[in-house]
Amino acid sequence: MPDHVFGRSTRGVPPVAVRGEGCYLFDAAGKRYLDGSGGAAVSCLGHSDPDVRAALHRQLDRLAFAHTGFFTSEPAEALADALVAAAPEGMERVYLVSGGSEAVEAAIKLARQYFLEIGQPQRHRVVARRQSYHGNTLGALAAGGNAWRRAQFAPLLVETSHIVRCYAYREQAAGESLADYGRRAADALEEELLRLGPDTVMAFIAEPVVGATAGAVPAVPGYLPRIREICDRYGVLLILDEVMCGMGRTGRMFACKEDGVAPDLLTVAKGLGAGYQPIGALLATGRVYEAIASGSGFFQHGHTYMGHPMAAAAALAVVTAIQERDLLAQVRRRGARLDARLREVLGDHPHVGDIRGRGLFRGIELVRDRATKEPFDPALGIHRRIKAAAFAAGLICYPMGGTIDGRSGDHVLLAPPYIIDDGQ
Ligand code: PLP
Repeated sequence: MPDHVFGRSTRGVPPVAVRGEGCYLFDAAGKRYLDGSGGAAVSCLGHSDPDVRAALHRQLDRLAFAHTGFFTSEPAEALADALVAAAPEGMERVYLVSGGSEAVEAAIKLARQYFLEIGQPQRHRVVARRQSYHGNTLGALAAGGNAWRRAQFAPLLVETSHIVRCYAYREQAAGESLADYGRRAADALEEELLRLGPDTVMAFIAEPVVGATAGAVPAVPGYLPRIREICDRYGVLLILDEVMCGMGRTGRMFACKEDGVAPDLLTVAKGLGAGYQPIGALLATGRVYEAIASGSGFFQHGHTYMGHPMAAAAALAVVTAIQERDLLAQVRRRGARLDARLREVLGDHPHVGDIRGRGLFRGIELVRDRATKEPFDPALGIHRRIKAAAFAAGLICYPMGGTIDGRSGDHVLLAPPYIIDDGQ
């Protein structure tokens, strides 16, 4: 086979994927892989879903593309309606893009324009958290706190404040209650706002359940409500990034519903298109939208493929499937089962430090020493070895190294399709 694709790695060519069916992928040599992580929490309906395929065929036969500078489209409008109906309170508008990084970029730019429209041009700063990932484009990368991903592009990244993570396994102090810990972690935002000058800050961004950089670490109860309170006190917009944890992955359509918090801006992607089409969405409150609508009337942003009818048709079929097949309840049930089995099988393993997550979004943190929580030496590349061993055995999972100040272990993220069965 010719080898001209410039992929993620220049070291070797991965197997050629030729077919997907349910929870399995097949390569050109006929080998079968159980998709235990949906790539990176993408394939929430599994592969080759008949309803999504039919929706795509229907849309292709009617209209493949109409530029949003001239038109809206039926699937884009229907998808926006469905997302708003399922979204946390106050979310009224949907901006459709092609993926997670684009959704985050749009959120940051919309936050900036919002403050310009309401006459607060001094607000331009973003505060984020150390253990976070918000995408690989320059704005989103600047917001993210993953030191390894940022390092070589540092001169290109706009300065961003990163406060402490919310990570009870490592940060909760001895004798401290979970509630006190959550409050302490959230109060770091207030300290940072006061240090920066609160009226220079436009937004705080966080993942309700941290995915790629931490391995399914949910905010502790009370943390996000406290964050919401602090944002409100200082007039800062709250952006919740649910690119990975949204669209039912945690057993709720939007993870923040579990925390009882509604953001000002909310991003989703991965599970939205479920791998059938590249798509992401930015949801905004009526208040943010109205500031633009009653001001300049124009969000100064836009990509050629935004609101793409094919992508919107696929996402609409995905959202419909999640709702009509009652998959959220299934995610909660299967997630509880997965958690229980992980604890049974790995709970006493000398190198398993923590098992955590929500729904079908589970993380296993690996440590050299369980008692001290000391991580493995990163030079050992434990996560790479696990990924390779699992792949060789026909399992796709999503391991990552511990990259945060040397104070996180390697972890393995599991995010199987919502249709996975007990045997699988
Ligand atoms: N935000 C979060 C929380 C993510 O996990 C990711 C991807 O892993 C992104 C943003 C970027 O999404 P994409 O890779 O679709 O650009």
